[in-house]
Amino acid sequence: MSELEELYREVANCTACDLHKSRTHPVSGEGPEDAKIMFIGEGPGYNEDQQGRPFVGPSGRLLEKWLALINLTRDEVYIANVIKCRPPNNRDPLASEVGACRPFLDRQIELIDPRLIATLGRHSMERYFPRARITKVHGRARREGSRVYLPLFHPAYILRNARAAEAAEADFKKIPRLLERLYEVLAEEARAGSPAETQGMAPPVEEEPKQLRMF
Ligand code: SF4
Repeated sequence: MSELEELYREVANCTACDLHKSRTHPVSGEGPEDAKIMFIGEGPGYNEDQQGRPFVGPSGRLLEKWLALINLTRDEVYIANVIKCRPPNNRDPLASEVGACRPFLDRQIELIDPRLIATLGRHSMERYFPRARITKVHGRARREGSRVYLPLFHPAYILRNARAAEAAEADFKKIPRLLERLYEVLAEEARAGSPAETQGMAPPVEEEPKQLRMF
């Protein structure tokens, strides 16, 4: 059993917050263990809870459409959520629930070690862009060490706000160039002997939105 499979087993048995009482299935996440791109959504909805898989309802179909814009399929990326069990009636997760579930997401990120993390919606954005407003920072990536963080609208938000669909697609289409640019910068720094290449996983950065370094 791989470390990721062990994590899935632990999620399935987890009772660390009350959400385990109402879930049908936990939704650990899915995708290749060596994925270069990781999407982090908020939490399972009805369809996800029923199937035990992330982004399988209408939001999932929109995410797949966005992936097709950059010639990717969901099998090529890793998809996770901030919380692994569905909140009743799709309410927002409580801070205590996010905190209880955080060690699972921390370990997923450490094990997958993606080069780009795209947050979907404000709950996952909060992890890397605290106090930022999604309407202000969407599509504005920040690089930390050997990783790029990109805040994106949640597909469910776009399904409710069609006016923002064009902006959401434009943000998504930045992903290939951001990865390309990251590798260029890392190569430049390696040639120059900069330590940035060996920084590995970057911790969350506690910065005011106005101070965000956009990449
Ligand atoms: Fe455990 Fe996370 Fe589910 Fe809460 S939401 S029971 S912490 S797996």
